[in-house]
Amino acid sequence: MKTIATLTPEYAQLLAAFLVEQGIACETRNTTDENGIDAAEVLVQDDIYESACKATEIWDAEMLAEDERRTSRRCPTCNSPHVEYIKDIDYEKTMTKIMAIYRCKDCNRVFAPKR
Ligand SMILES: [Zn+2]
Repeated sequence: MKTIATLTPEYAQLLAAFLVEQGIACETRNTTDENGIDAAEVLVQDDIYESACKATEIWDAEMLAEDERRTSRRCPTCNSPHVEYIKDIDYEKTMTKIMAIYRCKDCNRVFAPKR
């Protein structure tokens, strides 16, 4: 098995559902990233890795376009709109650009925006 993406559990479910729709069998495995945020890996068999990567690129572009349409980012703890972008989760390790991590300037909570 190879990991094609590490995402929040919510995004991992969406990606897994998309891949299955495309006829690509996959598994998800729960993990925790270095910020202590719950994450999930999406894995596929080695022989379908390339087609899974192509499908993930398509899914990622769709998710990114949808994400850009949603303008407000708010802290899940204090609902403050004063949040700053920190980085993309595991950007180097995965195909996806969608998983941005933010920090609340008011209560310092680190979070990945939920859909
Ligand atoms: Zn906050």
